[in-house]
Amino acid sequence: MPNTEFPSENTTAERPQHVPRDPLTGVQRAAVTALVDSAQPVSGQLGDLFSSHDQQLALVGGPVRDALLGRESADIDLTTDAVPQRVLEIVDGWADSVWTVGIDFGTVGLRKRGLQLEVTTYRSESYSPKSRKPEVAYGTDIEDDLLRRDFTVNAMAVRLPQVEFIDPFGGLADLKAKVLRTPGRPEDSFDDDPLRIMRAVRFAAQLGFALAPEVAEAARNMADRLAIVSAERIRDELTKLMLSPNPRRGIELMVELGIAGHVLPEVPRMQLEIDEHHRHKDVYEHSLTVLDQAIDLERERGHGPDLVLRLAALLHDIGKPKTRAFESGNRVTFHHHEVVGASMTRKRLAALRFPKDVVSDVATLVSLHLRFHGYGKGEWTDSAVRRYARDAGDLLEWLHILTRADCTTRNRRKAAALARSYDDIERRIAELAEQEELDRIRPDLDGNEIQEVLGVKPGPVVGKAYRFLLELRLENGPMSKEEATSALRAWAAEHL
Ligand code: ATP
Ligand code: MG
Repeated sequence: MPNTEFPSENTTAERPQHVPRDPLTGVQRAAVTALVDSAQPVSGQLGDLFSSHDQQLALVGGPVRDALLGRESADIDLTTDAVPQRVLEIVDGWADSVWTVGIDFGTVGLRKRGLQLEVTTYRSESYSPKSRKPEVAYGTDIEDDLLRRDFTVNAMAVRLPQVEFIDPFGGLADLKAKVLRTPGRPEDSFDDDPLRIMRAVRFAAQLGFALAPEVAEAARNMADRLAIVSAERIRDELTKLMLSPNPRRGIELMVELGIAGHVLPEVPRMQLEIDEHHRHKDVYEHSLTVLDQAIDLERERGHGPDLVLRLAALLHDIGKPKTRAFESGNRVTFHHHEVVGASMTRKRLAALRFPKDVVSDVATLVSLHLRFHGYGKGEWTDSAVRRYARDAGDLLEWLHILTRADCTTRNRRKAAALARSYDDIERRIAELAEQEELDRIRPDLDGNEIQEVLGVKPGPVVGKAYRFLLELRLENGPMSKEEATSALRAWAAEHL
């Protein structure tokens, strides 16, 4: 839910210099206008409605940022000087429905003609520094509210109904420069709500932006503050990061800035040298490459972004550091790392409060990711192939992608051989499935019905008639009882 859970704070921050009120180029103004139009009836009606009640209203945050980036926005966030109770009064009779789950945080949700809107009251100073729960104090000034937002690119607003663009902290310039900067001092901002550290890397992955140097430094110094943030809030940001166009970038930043150690400590631990010659073919780099390759395959095979697949790709080898053993002749082994890895995966994802099915699906994929390597050049029997498909169940397509992606060798011939052999198992699985469908096909009349139609007792004639009807069924597809009966009679007249 937007806007609801972040604490108001930052009383000490100095406000950066004012930038001109409407610095938009023609194209940007067109984007803002399009946003306002697409949010009809928001702009026309709701803006007028608030203004007729002497209250302010503005589009804010994500939708304004996304319109200027030419991206589609997830939701329509609005901000107002009206307190929630007043918002409820104003929209009474106008909104198709209203929900108030976020009302303690100042948010009223509305639905109007299929559009979903969230109206949040301006935040202002005052908070309780000891409390982990944000304490909401309402304000009367939009700029005070914008100062409390996480990044300057999220601190732009468009006043309604007049469509006035407001950007007190240079968000538009930062948007152009593709940089995440906090409206006030980053230390104060992260101190107020350490989740913003995670949000920074999430937006970096989602928007392809860089962290301003002072933001990166504050994030690095304060990463341990994430310990006080609820697992659910961290999970939501991690989910958005993983589903973004470039999760690798987000994960790398998390590792570089020491954030990963507090969120997914198993990931930085994969930075291993796998032999005594310090050859840096480490498991961490490999995992990131597998993640990238899995994302390519996900798209090539026509899927949208999938959390289970992507988490499995990132985590498939997390059992390696624990199981690493050096054997004679400089050989390194990781016996049963898929089993150990699956159990580590389960623990970590459960601690992050991922839904139960996500936890178990990702763990299943991790535990199965090596299974195919027994396949060799196709030595498996049909029953082994069937068992492979059955053990993967609904996850089979993700297992196909994960196993194919898990080949990062630079040796082209080796890679091609592996891909061919995987083509082979996929083909065999499809054939077996088709065969099983065929095996399930029955004639349109059963043995009893055949006996009735032909007026015969059980015996070889029934078997013959059964085979005839089965052939007919395979040849022509399903028939009605009547059709099958007359076909059987015609056959009997000729053959019996
Ligand atoms: P998206 O909806 O695409 O995930 P968003 O920017 O809309 O991105 P939300 O989580 O919906 O993000 O939050 C809406 C707005 O509320 C943000 O743009 C930002 O201005 C503000 N915001 C949200 N969470 C925080 C926070 N933890 N600290 C400060 N401001 C926040
Ligand atoms: Mg949003």
